[in-house]
Amino acid sequence: MPLISYMSRIQFDFGALRLLPGELALLGVQRPLLVTDPGVRAAGLVDRVLAALDGTPPPVFEDTPSNPTEAAAEAALALYRGHGCDGVVALGGGSAIDLAKAVALLATHPGSLGDYGIRGGGSQRIREIAPVLAIPTTAGTGAEVGRAATLTLKGGRKIACVSLRLIPKTAICDPELTLSLPPLMTAATGMDALSHGVESYLSTWVNPPAAAIALDCVERAGRWIERAVSHGDDRDARWQMLMAALEGGLTFQKSLGAVHAAGHPLGALGYHHGTLNAILLPPVLRFNAPAVPEKIARLKATLGLAPADDLADWIERLTRRIGLPTKLSELGLDAALIPELAEEASHEHLSETNPRPATAADYRHILEAAYV
Ligand SMILES: [Zn+2]
Repeated sequence: MPLISYMSRIQFDFGALRLLPGELALLGVQRPLLVTDPGVRAAGLVDRVLAALDGTPPPVFEDTPSNPTEAAAEAALALYRGHGCDGVVALGGGSAIDLAKAVALLATHPGSLGDYGIRGGGSQRIREIAPVLAIPTTAGTGAEVGRAATLTLKGGRKIACVSLRLIPKTAICDPELTLSLPPLMTAATGMDALSHGVESYLSTWVNPPAAAIALDCVERAGRWIERAVSHGDDRDARWQMLMAALEGGLTFQKSLGAVHAAGHPLGALGYHHGTLNAILLPPVLRFNAPAVPEKIARLKATLGLAPADDLADWIERLTRRIGLPTKLSELGLDAALIPELAEEASHEHLSETNPRPATAADYRHILEAAYV
């Protein structure tokens, strides 16, 4: 049975950002590097963090690409070393947090990022990294408590670094910071959170505490996502969605499944991760349902659906109501790429924990169903 492990320190509520100086002191961090992205800066959130930190303003790396890269990690590392930093504060969505993890890894390890990918056995080489404190500004990825960092290497290859040591030491989850998130971003990141709950609940790994958290994630995200999209200033809805995202991240240790396996090669083409998951969930659920009927029934009950309702149909209608595309063709994907994408999906490590074994041919059918 896989390891059960909870190790994050989490400060969660409106106004939690004011706890930042004390939390950094607890970590022994005196000179943090702040890693963020231009959108977060434009939304005024960097200024709020700087205001929360009294004293000398920290160096800021704000060039996190929407899909983080090794080159960006090395540029941020140069800033980290140039200023004699001793820890990283990540402010943003999954990209900024993943980049911060990579910087903290490179700051304390020899070689380059390519040496630490899960595929090449690099996880065993990951020792203690520099302390990371994560402050999410979207409610979706759960990266603030997650153990993975996914980056694109200089050669174009995508790698996932996965280790318990990559989990941020502290997460400060302040729903105040998500109030200005635009509706489409709220919808896409929120569907990512929902997909984490659904996929980890259905995965083959046995981890009852994570399964319980996954169900709570599903209930919260399913109940509140529409409200958070339609009324972005609803503080209750924002609190609930940030909690659902956090719970989704806490369940990663129960692994995921075919939605994320099929989503990764598509994500490499530049499509938004959460949007892809929203599109892929219904066809993957239709594929998985015969293998796990009792779990599907439990998910439906959790969401308040009647036994006769179809979970996949319900998710498709929800996705449409919150303004997201429901088909890959709407993203402009070239259908000719499907066989190659299906092949790649079947080799993804997350495919191994899908409740129904999926071959490349299965992924082709799933992607074709997701296309039109
Ligand atoms: Zn995800």
